[in-house]
Amino acid sequence: MIVLKFGGTSMGTKDAMNQVIKIAGQKMEHSDLIIVVSAMSGTTDNLLNSGKMASDQNDGYRELIRISEERHMSIISELIPTQHQNGIKAITKNYFTEIRELCNGIYLLGEISPRVKDRLAGYGELISSNIIATVFNAGGTPCAWKDARELVRTNSAFGNAAVDFSITNEVIREYFLTNPSRLTVVPGFIATDARNISTTLGRGGSDYSAAIIAAAVDAESLEIWTDVSGMMTADPRWVPNAKIIPEISYQEAMELSHFGAKVIYPPTIQPVLNKNIPAWIKNTFHPDDHGTVIRNSQVALDQSIVRGISSISDLALLSLEGSGMVGIPGFSKRLFEALAKEQINVILITQSSSEHSICVGIDVKMADHAKNTIDIEFEYEIVTEKVNPLFVERDLSIVALVGDNMKNHTGISGKLFSALGRNGVNIRAIAQGSSERNISVVIGTSDVRKSVNILHEEFFETTFRQINLFISGVGNVGRKFIGQLLQQKTFMQENLRLQVNVVGMANSRTMRFKEDGIDLAVWEQSLKEGEPANIKVFADGIISRNLRNSIFVDITANAAVADIYPLLLEKSIAVVACNKVAASSAYVNYKKLKDLSAEYNAPFLFETNVGAGLPVIATLKDLIRSGDRVHRMQAVLSGTLNFVFNNYDGTVKFADVVKQAQHEGYTEPDPRLDLSGTDVMRKILILAREAGAPLEMEMIGCTPFLPESCFNGSVDDFYLEMAHQEEHFKSLFKKAVSKNCKLKFVATFENGKASVGLQHIAPAHDLYNLFGKDNVVLFYTDRYKDQPLVVKGAGAGAEVTASGVFADMLRAASV
Ligand code: ADP
Ligand code: ASP
Ligand code: MG
Repeated sequence: MIVLKFGGTSMGTKDAMNQVIKIAGQKMEHSDLIIVVSAMSGTTDNLLNSGKMASDQNDGYRELIRISEERHMSIISELIPTQHQNGIKAITKNYFTEIRELCNGIYLLGEISPRVKDRLAGYGELISSNIIATVFNAGGTPCAWKDARELVRTNSAFGNAAVDFSITNEVIREYFLTNPSRLTVVPGFIATDARNISTTLGRGGSDYSAAIIAAAVDAESLEIWTDVSGMMTADPRWVPNAKIIPEISYQEAMELSHFGAKVIYPPTIQPVLNKNIPAWIKNTFHPDDHGTVIRNSQVALDQSIVRGISSISDLALLSLEGSGMVGIPGFSKRLFEALAKEQINVILITQSSSEHSICVGIDVKMADHAKNTIDIEFEYEIVTEKVNPLFVERDLSIVALVGDNMKNHTGISGKLFSALGRNGVNIRAIAQGSSERNISVVIGTSDVRKSVNILHEEFFETTFRQINLFISGVGNVGRKFIGQLLQQKTFMQENLRLQVNVVGMANSRTMRFKEDGIDLAVWEQSLKEGEPANIKVFADGIISRNLRNSIFVDITANAAVADIYPLLLEKSIAVVACNKVAASSAYVNYKKLKDLSAEYNAPFLFETNVGAGLPVIATLKDLIRSGDRVHRMQAVLSGTLNFVFNNYDGTVKFADVVKQAQHEGYTEPDPRLDLSGTDVMRKILILAREAGAPLEMEMIGCTPFLPESCFNGSVDDFYLEMAHQEEHFKSLFKKAVSKNCKLKFVATFENGKASVGLQHIAPAHDLYNLFGKDNVVLFYTDRYKDQPLVVKGAGAGAEVTASGVFADMLRAASV
């Protein structure tokens, strides 16, 4: 005997029904079958809603019932040949008449009892199972229909009745021993109590009905046919990368389903486990897919450490706290007895070893009731201030890692906590059974989807890690950066297992969000079609999406954009800044950002602030992290100025050489920032700070080489005035040449002090041989005392700067 259960999605369309007939036909070639069916998708909810509306004396219930009846009738018309329709239509009509009468009664009373609710909820299975039985009979496969209420006997806990196995097993066995039919259809979910009153086995309970019957008849196997090809490593509606688990132990399946893997109703496992009957989860629409087999395998299961991840929402956390509890036995007994007496199910328990508090997770619907119950139970202790009134927190959920092999591995919980931590998920409570088959954390409900995805990426390496990127600024550098993202897409997927999703993009005019990723091939058009830009709204959009591995990339030179960094960092969103404003602002602000970054585990990276794509800050950080100390830094940090002095020899006007630098994309958007030395001051300031010196911009010495008159007015005036001052530049040049020197704009940091200015550099000097727009930094440290550590190369240009931003993004992605 094989017991098959078909779920709601396996019915209701001709295609699905054809699959059911085909699957059953194949199985019948070698075995007798019992088919357990649930209601068509949505029917149970519809019936319960009708009852609820009627009890609220809301007329709308009539319409709900009418819709449901019509749906069932039209399915009958579609699935069953006309000559066989009369009987089943009459049966269905009859059931709907009963449903209507029941709801009319509820409407009159203005209330619905749990007992009536169960009666009402069970009609979906009665109707669908009759339809299926008719489909088989009409199609020439003789089939018996048996009312499950005569087979499955329970107590009277309506809504979630407990099975009386001794009677149930006997009744089922007896019935099937004498039942001559090779195929029997049974409605799932419903049962009766000792007084023959209808009960139900809990939502999703048809799976359980099938398992109860399978165990009672010692079936060869139990097969749960549904709309997915097996139990998956996470809920596929949330984790698109979830994988089918080909084989899983009973215990793991039980844990996973208990913690929210809806694909199988948790109590289903116990009866088949007791009898060692393998249970399959199969896809009605893809019957050839392997599916999942639940059994205690003789051969070792594959060595996955974590088998699956699941979650339960709608959790409330109750905390009983007080100094009067410490070392005194009996508190937890009283707490749990009080909850049990009120039928309040405890989902999770934790107690700190100080015994100062006990924390219990329950269904949020029971939270008020639990609070009243516990406060009454501990009334004396509360009045005498031995314990506090019960503290209740809502809007919580549980996320659980499940796997038999977790007990043999260290570091699983460490990995769990650090993955959630770096994504800013606050963990409210933790529980781990001593079997170590399950590690559960309680977190805010708004973080669940994100957390399940984070953990899935962390523990199932076959999948890509998804980076959710938000880009502000799509000028010269931004454009190149997007081009690189597009170009490196396959490389990142194949080699780094990273999938970069650009979720948001903004420039000064418009901004655009697209959660499944902006198509980078047409980003300009997408951005153009966005809403009007507003950086604060952009920040809100990043934060409210609460996506895992979020990184914000600022490729503007705008102070308002830098203002949003703290908002992001304190939500654990990484910030990659090409923009120098933040790192060179007041020291307190720089420090605050660094502190937020450390506190919230969110990288704040700005490598391109100094030397474009050159690894200047990274090198400095590595020196310091490894215990070295920086005594002196000497550097040429302006690609623009280096370009200008390398190309200026008095033949072409100085102003024109500057113009050329701007034209080639080496200058700041405002070239005066480069020519005044301000940009170099910012860079040495940032390096000094990264080396540990709390300097301010005003503390940096600067001897400008441009006459002050150049800085009056607009950029155009600036170029005009520079042209007027050509003689000044010529003489600067000649003076240097006369000493056989080159002009270099040099930044120096020494003894905690920094300065910038034009210098004559002789041929023997490390700074002499610098070409084009190159930058160079000389680090003199404990380890590099006599000969400096030199970082040198192109220090300006959109392409290299974009690649520096790219490198920072990768650093932020793989902390
Ligand atoms: P049925 O009507 O067949 O009983 P259910 O809706 O009760 O179907 O269960 C199947 C659904 O369970 C799937 O469509 C899927 O969305 C959901 N589900 C949740 N968690 C998991 C998981 N870990 N693996 C597979 N499916 C899951
Ligand atoms: N129809 C019932 C429910 O929706 C039982 C089931 O689907 O398994 O809860
Ligand atoms: Mg189900």
